Amino acid sequence: MAYDLVIKNGLVILPGGEQEVDIAVTDGKIAQIGTDIEIGDARVVDAKGLVVSPGMIDAHVHISEPGGGIRDHWEGYDTGTRAAAKGGVTSFIEMPLNQIPATVDHDSIQEKFKAGDDKLSVDVYSYGGLVPFNLDGGIQELDEDGVVAYKAFVATAGDRSIEGDFMNVDDYSLYEGMRQIAKTGKILSIHAENGPITDKLGQLAQERGEKSLAAYVDTRPVFTEVEPIQKIILFAKETGCRVHIVHVANAEAIDLINEAANEGVDITCETCTHYLYFYKEELDDIGPVVKCSPPIREKSRLEGMWERVFDGKVMFVTSDHSPCTPDLKDTDDAFKAWGGISGIQNNVDLLFDEAVQKRGMSLTQFADIIASNVADRFELKGKGRIEVGYDADFVLIKGDSPYTVEKEALEYRNKISPYIGREIGAQVAGTILRGEEIYSLDQGVSNLKIGQFYK
Ligand SMILES: [Zn+2]
Repeated sequence: MAYDLVIKNGLVILPGGEQEVDIAVTDGKIAQIGTDIEIGDARVVDAKGLVVSPGMIDAHVHISEPGGGIRDHWEGYDTGTRAAAKGGVTSFIEMPLNQIPATVDHDSIQEKFKAGDDKLSVDVYSYGGLVPFNLDGGIQELDEDGVVAYKAFVATAGDRSIEGDFMNVDDYSLYEGMRQIAKTGKILSIHAENGPITDKLGQLAQERGEKSLAAYVDTRPVFTEVEPIQKIILFAKETGCRVHIVHVANAEAIDLINEAANEGVDITCETCTHYLYFYKEELDDIGPVVKCSPPIREKSRLEGMWERVFDGKVMFVTSDHSPCTPDLKDTDDAFKAWGGISGIQNNVDLLFDEAVQKRGMSLTQFADIIASNVADRFELKGKGRIEVGYDADFVLIKGDSPYTVEKEALEYRNKISPYIGREIGAQVAGTILRGEEIYSLDQGVSNLKIGQFYK
């Protein structure tokens, strides 16, 4: 049999454990895995000394295109997907907010597809929004347009001065939305923070003249993350809606979610790379670039988060890549800065270093938390595993090769990131999407735009 590509000599993370095997690819799919593959005319990628993992599927990414003339300069499909390629992310699920209009019905998702077509370096799946103003048909339209899941905010979201911007749900629209989403069989992912309490605590802190990130963290205490999850669990029991809690930032919430799952509620959660790396006590030294919500918590809580990732209580890890323009971070008042971290380019390297190299995670579990579990949860067919018949999506990782993250090396439209200046003990050496090299250390990011929207 003639192959298009053979990846040789790598340590390959297969579903049952890692092995030194070669991988043959035909028509973008894995055609054979073994040690006696005939190369013939195939292109060869020599992965000697490298770990070959399923490409990361980042389940939480914000691209602000179309920007509606207001957020045009935040992040685009070209730069955002180039950063993904460089970071070893071969697919991501894009959130229905920060673009204008928000993705809440047929027309808005078509506008989004149009904005991104021909600009994609990696594959893109879509979230649809659940907002108070799309309960009369929007949910069903999005289902037909192929969203893999829905997203709602119970924390305050969106700019009410912008027409078509995203909006958080009230209790009724959450309940009614969950009833409608339950009928699609898809998952509702939720940003769970108590809006009224965090908003008011924030306002009071500002009135006292507080400006620090530490003070900002204090206005969003742990219980304000836990409280809405209790409500969501109740609503899930009542409506039968499958749910997922995005970017959980504390152990108590993770434990609550797992207790409910053990009782039979269809609920899972993710955390983000930054909640496994940064800690509250260093935030003010880094500055508003590291501001996000829920906030990054105390150092004493970090290992508790890791423990739950190792225990399988956190299903996968995401970047919540949520960029903005530099001016929105350029303030000494943490309360005024935009909350969001640019991170899609430093998931794989950082997680490999922190999880595998520093904490001894198995390679199989590493592949699970960056790819396989995401594909399973959102039913992304043919993605997330190195198995015959699956898409040939890989990230090649060079372990034990420290490098320092430099601003100029970031592919983001706006080169801001809290990881700049940090030394990371592993590197992404290459990224392959459906059999095509979209990034390599030698060649950089390819100009191939072979990524596609799944509709
Ligand atoms: Zn987000």
